[in-house]
Amino acid sequence: MYKCMNCEKSVTQEDLKKRIRCPFCGYRIIVKNRPEIIKKVEAR
Ligand SMILES: [Zn+2]
Repeated sequence: MYKCMNCEKSVTQEDLKKRIRCPFCGYRIIVKNRPEIIKKVEAR
């Protein structure tokens, strides 16, 4: 998942294939969302 730096909406990789810009506001700086929050380890 990616995120627009301007409107902070989620941008999919599919949207960036056509053109690297936000499909909502047209902003051209997209950052990658790092799923580091999902580091819940259930092992115990
Ligand atoms: Zn945007």
